[in-house]
Order: sequence, then structure tokens, then C-alpha cells
Amino acid sequence: MNIIFIAPPGAGKGTQSEMLVNKYGLNHISTGDLLREEINSGSDLGKKIAEIINGGNLVSDDLMIEMLSKKIDELGIEKGIIFDGFPRTENQAIMLDKLMEEKYASKINYVFNLVIEKSEAMKRALGRILCPSCGKIYNVYFDKFDVDGYCNVCNSKLEKRLDDNEESFNVRFDSFISKTKPLIDFYSNKGILYEVKCGDKKEETFEKIEVLLNK
Ligand SMILES: [Zn+2]
Repeated sequence: MNIIFIAPPGAGKGTQSEMLVNKYGLNHISTGDLLREEINSGSDLGKKIAEIINGGNLVSDDLMIEMLSKKIDELGIEKGIIFDGFPRTENQAIMLDKLMEEKYASKINYVFNLVIEKSEAMKRALGRILCPSCGKIYNVYFDKFDVDGYCNVCNSKLEKRLDDNEESFNVRFDSFISKTKPLIDFYSNKGILYEVKCGDKKEETFEKIEVLLNK
């Protein structure tokens, strides 16, 4: 099965993806990670992408699809894929459908729209701290620490994410909601959009997702 998450900042998309990967063995493709990997690899495609980004431009939909397709070739389609960060627009959604159908004889099965109150999302986003050494992300509101302020895994001192302050959160949240409306309509019309109200705990949200998957 292939899954897309549509989720505003603070909804816990990353956590839910990780839980799905662990339980169902799906592959997780984050286009943000892909862009970084491709650039770091020094490939021709990577050089092209670096040039575009350094020039302050957006990577075109065609290039994104080329990159995604390369990654899917590498991982295979059999285990199923969670798409993270793509598509963001209706045009990208149409292109992804086409790629899945024509190249892999596959399709997107579930689009989970994680719904969360803005105030709750902000609380979560602003409580986010991360370990600079091992990359583990914690939330001061939800996680338990062996030693307050230090990573449970590697004992490094945890840091707050710099881009998380109230003002920038507001902007990111509002722009996300308005920009993804066409995408939500697109998948809703296809009958594969599932609204999931975020629970207080990540396990609650995951349970709702599993109920939908097992229907
Ligand atoms: Zn750590």
C-alpha cells in the first residue's frame, strides 16, 4: 500500500510515518531528504538541483518526479511507500499518479489528512527539541526524559529548533492550510482522502490510522 500524509506543522506526521514504517515495513520517502542526498552524492542530477536551489529557485515538478522515480527504482514498489513532503500541489499529485500508474502499475491507496487545532499544533511544535548528535526528536510536553534536557539515547544536550517560534509557526500553519486545500479536494474527489483527528497521544492517532488501513 502507498500512503501520503497531508499534515500541518505540529501534527506529528514524522512520528506517524515512523510508526507505520516500523509496524508495516513500508519505505519512507521524504523529498527534503532526497534533495539533500542527491546534492551530497555529487551526481549530475545533484549538481543541477544544487544550482537551482542556490539560485533561489524552486526545483521543478519534472525534476522532483525524476528524483522520486530514481528512489522508487532503488527501493522497489513491493513493500509500499509513504510519501513525505510530496505532492504539495494538485499538479504534483497528477504527475505522481501518472508515474505510479505508468511506470510501476501501482497507485496511491490512502491519503491521510491529519487534522489538529492550531493552538494544539503550536503547543506541540514549540515543545519540540532535538538531539544534535543522533537526530532524535523529542517533545517536552509528551516525552519522558531520563535526565531533563538530555537525550535518552546518547546523553547529548538537547536543542530547541530555531525556526519554531510563535510568529513563524502562525505563518507556516496558515500558509499550509490555504495551500493544501486544492490537494485535499483532489484526493477527496478520488475517494481516497481520510481525515484523521489527531489524538492527545501519538498512539491514539496511530490507532485511528490503523482502523482505516484495516477496513
Ligand atoms: Zn541523541
